[in-house]
Amino acid sequence: MNYKMFLIKYAEIGTKGKNRYVFEDIMCRRMRALLKPHGKFEVRREYGRIYVEAFSDYDYDDVMEALGCVFGIVGICPVRVVENTDFDNLAKEAVAYMQEEYGQSCKTFKVNARRNDKTYPKSSMEINCDIGATILDAFPDMRVDVHNPDIMLNIEVRNVAYIYSRIIQGPGGLPVGTNGKGMVLLSGGIDSPVAAYMIAKRGVELEAVYFHAPPYTSERAKQKVVDLGKLVSRYAGPIKLHIVNFTDVQLCIYDNCPHDELTIIMKRIMYKMAQEIALKEECQCIITGESIGQVSSQTTQSLYVINQAADILPVFRPCIGLDKQEIIDISEKIGTYETSILPYEDCCTTFVAKHPVTKPKEEQIMESEKKLEGKIEELYKKAVDEVQIVFCR
Ligand code: ATP
Ligand code: MG
Repeated sequence: MNYKMFLIKYAEIGTKGKNRYVFEDIMCRRMRALLKPHGKFEVRREYGRIYVEAFSDYDYDDVMEALGCVFGIVGICPVRVVENTDFDNLAKEAVAYMQEEYGQSCKTFKVNARRNDKTYPKSSMEINCDIGATILDAFPDMRVDVHNPDIMLNIEVRNVAYIYSRIIQGPGGLPVGTNGKGMVLLSGGIDSPVAAYMIAKRGVELEAVYFHAPPYTSERAKQKVVDLGKLVSRYAGPIKLHIVNFTDVQLCIYDNCPHDELTIIMKRIMYKMAQEIALKEECQCIITGESIGQVSSQTTQSLYVINQAADILPVFRPCIGLDKQEIIDISEKIGTYETSILPYEDCCTTFVAKHPVTKPKEEQIMESEKKLEGKIEELYKKAVDEVQIVFCR
């Protein structure tokens, strides 16, 4: 059955008081954008609800997938629309709906009627009882359970009637664009696309920065990051990706600093550059995929020393308390995993020391960084000035 309509359920937006309409508007806009390629749809607000109405044929799975990418939506209910609300016709349609959805299965149900049209000849209670009785007649194996039914058959009577029972889970969260903008440090790995997704889910619009080190990192590695940006943009909306050529800066660090401190110093400089670009782009936070203890540069001591480099913007690390497997589970769910595991090199791994420090001291690192003075500034400036922009959408 292809449904004419979908009822959209949302949770957290409902708590936003006067701002609720702003959140709803942004969510509706995002829904329209994602539905556009799949047919002719109208997204509208009505009686404090959001509906999607189809005015053309469409592929059900495609539409579900598109709506499943809109943060803010917690549930999608496919609705059968009944134009003729005469009770006999309504009862007939309810039976047809149950037949198409559940067949002659052995299930419990409850009818939950609501009517806006107070001139309707039956009260909500009467609709519940009478349609319940009709269904029991038509489906001898079904039973009523008013406390814990398998099927909650919702019937809303207005100028037309809506029948629905299934709720397909949405992604939840808040619509992107309702909570400022963040700059994600996007590498080709598993963690940072997940971090990007998690922060976008809280309504934050994203831009991204990738540190590329040709020829040590290949074009394919760069393309992989662009591809990951595109996958995340399904949920987060278009992402402006800043690609920094990091090679000269990295070589300068390599030539001048102790090798066991390379990763820490490199990360600090990445953070500084990311912050500079983020401030220019009016972002209010930096986002990374770090998780405590995952590698030597993510011990608590390392994170402390690296974090000191971002001295203006807060750094959000939504994966911080997750195990690797938990991060992988999310990346599989959002569809980035297969791309993330493609085996292309990252600039952090290319220059990694055999025995990197795991308990760096800030003073010691700053002492080592002094060796870069007079050498790195120009390279740093050139890297920031010459960033390449790619739009991931
Ligand atoms: P990921 O799976 O996200 O690559 P990781 O486990 O490989 O993370 P690290 O290489 O230590 O961990 O990187 C930690 C974080 O630093 C990443 O999650 C990402 O946010 C950022 N990062 C690392 N390398 C790059 C890069 N080349 N460009 C941009 N950001 C990077
Ligand atoms: Mg990585």
